[in-house]
Amino acid sequence: LIQLFLPLNFLGFVYREIRRALTDLENMLGLLTRKPAIIDATDAQPLQLNGADIRFENVSFRYQTERPILQDLSFHVPSGSKVAIVGASGAGKSTIARLLYRFYELEAGRILIDGQDIRKVSLESLRRAIAIVPQDTVLFNTSIRDNIAYAKPDASAAEVDQAIAMAHLQDFINSLPQGDQTQVGERGLKVSGGEKQRIAIARAMLKGSPILVFDEATSSLDSASEQAILKAMREVAQQHTSLVIAHRLSTITDADQILVLQQGQLVEQGSHLQLLAANGRYASLWRQQAEQSD
Ligand code: ATP
Repeated sequence: LIQLFLPLNFLGFVYREIRRALTDLENMLGLLTRKPAIIDATDAQPLQLNGADIRFENVSFRYQTERPILQDLSFHVPSGSKVAIVGASGAGKSTIARLLYRFYELEAGRILIDGQDIRKVSLESLRRAIAIVPQDTVLFNTSIRDNIAYAKPDASAAEVDQAIAMAHLQDFINSLPQGDQTQVGERGLKVSGGEKQRIAIARAMLKGSPILVFDEATSSLDSASEQAILKAMREVAQQHTSLVIAHRLSTITDADQILVLQQGQLVEQGSHLQLLAANGRYASLWRQQAEQSD
């Protein structure tokens, strides 16, 4: 038996070695075939802004080959309007914002801002044109004022004050022991989710971009916080072309257009009242959320 065991054992060793070599080769090929990072086209021009009108034209996208995320998606966000995207978790809402910011390349279709394909403009000018209010904002270990002002290091004191006012942060700041010099962040004062989003709104205001992408926090906020954010957002949105990724339908009833996304496809589109009257997917999401909040 031992005579049989030794050669078999040896064969097993050879087999494992070959498998490892193949896996290494696969990894190497994977590295070689990995898509290059997003970079400027060789003849990239700065984005020429003229009202910040956004168009998605037949956009398809997938993160991984086996799973399509957005399929043939087209919509228009006219200059100065407010468009909200709603849909179940995982429908592809945040992906739309990432594609607008050109974090990834499209599989098909194109995205235009004021008629210019975002692939053809410089990344720097594209990203300067878009301010994002993320779901969760990172705060640095510095004063609350510096946390806001960092969005525009050369901002004047008046500009920072204006951003604070627009984001309805004044009362919160006044209530702090050292006002706008109070330290926040990991080692400072803990700031609630709602206050963080308003800090992000103030940063977005300072950035001065014509396009605003607001990624509404999924975590529920108390209704006072929510009202403060809504008030800030409504004022700020009036001066921007805005795209709102909404989780609570109650926050976007005033949007000019609501896009209802289901598994990466646009299934309905219209104002809040039009969509309620249509009595389709949006209306059922609305009833569902109304029941949950009862
Ligand atoms: P939510 O409401 O939960 O924030 P969403 O509608 O914004 O969801 P997306 O974040 O756009 O959804 O994600 C769409 C799909 O893509 C999800 O199924 C998600 O798992 C997948 N996905 C997101 N990011 C990546 C990634 N970096 N790599 C692979 N798949 C991803």
